[in-house]
Amino acid sequence: MRFVHNTLPQRVRFASGAAAAGVRAEVERLGARRVMVIAADAERALAEEIAADLPVALRHDEVLMHVPVEVAERARAAAAAHRADVIVSVGGGSTTGLAKAVALTTGLPIVAVPTTYAGSEATDVWGLTENAVKTTGRDPRVLPVAIVYDPSLTLTLPAEMSVASGLNALAHCVDSLWAPQADPINAALAIEGVRALTIGLPEVARDPSGLDGREHALYGAYLAAVAFASAGSGLHHKICHVLGGKYDLPHAQTHAVVLPHVLAFNAPNAPDADRRLAGAFGADTALAGLQALRARLDAPKALRDYGLAEADLPDAVEAILRSVPEGNPTHATGDNLAALIRAAWEGSEPA
Ligand code: NAD
Repeated sequence: MRFVHNTLPQRVRFASGAAAAGVRAEVERLGARRVMVIAADAERALAEEIAADLPVALRHDEVLMHVPVEVAERARAAAAAHRADVIVSVGGGSTTGLAKAVALTTGLPIVAVPTTYAGSEATDVWGLTENAVKTTGRDPRVLPVAIVYDPSLTLTLPAEMSVASGLNALAHCVDSLWAPQADPINAALAIEGVRALTIGLPEVARDPSGLDGREHALYGAYLAAVAFASAGSGLHHKICHVLGGKYDLPHAQTHAVVLPHVLAFNAPNAPDADRRLAGAFGADTALAGLQALRARLDAPKALRDYGLAEADLPDAVEAILRSVPEGNPTHATGDNLAALIRAAWEGSEPA
């Protein structure tokens, strides 16, 4: 065994119903006195409760998916004008993403309170969109200093969005097994993430207001994100990055649709990943396990349902072909990628 593994420095609190107390403790620990609260309009009520006892200098609610540069600029200017000394973000990946954009140029610490399973809070990856092109990068300044997980905050996330977001987390786990920096440590986290998500997500789908399923799902989403942050982007993430950036497809649903097709594509040439995933799903093969889980969740099936036009497929394949990671288990060609993308577009059985 030979590997070099990076562990990102970050404090993680996890307790249902304890978000306000957890955030207060983290803000005090930082000695901060001027809090910038970032939360979208939809999460305003959650954020109000969490921030009730904080020294709030400003509230910022202009949150957009994929963080347009001008939105980031306005948030940075607001942080400077109010002399903020810490950011508390309450919301999904888009909200965490805006907090990261502010931290990238200001160096302000982030206390992240996630309300979906996107996992951005546990990575040092930032993303910004300019002229319909999404750029991502890594920077230690954007890694939240603390995450405050409170599964009770996810009770309001609609079942459909919960399923899509949970499968986005599952995709972090699966793709980590063959991503460029895959190693035994991130694989261990990924496999435990699959186990937790396989327990949690069917519970969430059955009873979105039950806490037990929410706890397992959020715990799994965290493990998934840590695995992904360490292993990097594999073929699945490269495909979703191209599709999301070029055609403005919804993030979580795109991941949910594409995952079984990438698994079917890679598993035959990644027997160890296949065996370990099968074990975590409790199935004979990884694909059978994923498909059984997706059936229970009534998971998103076809990219055409989310706005991808058939005429865009050839261009998409060309762009994806240019970004295939070196060392992907199955050799990607224009032909086999075209078949993969068409199957994901149609929603046909992954082959
Ligand atoms: P999102 O943050 O856009 O949220 C989706 C929808 O759910 C929004 O309408 C939001 O208001 C709503 N919502 C969120 N929490 C809720 C709750 N508890 N109750 C009710 N509604 C709620 O979507 P997302 O999938 O969480 O994040 C997607 C974004 O995150 C993308 O831009 C993606 O690129 C980014 N992302 C980044 C990383 C990273 O490492 N940098 C990782 C994963 C995702």
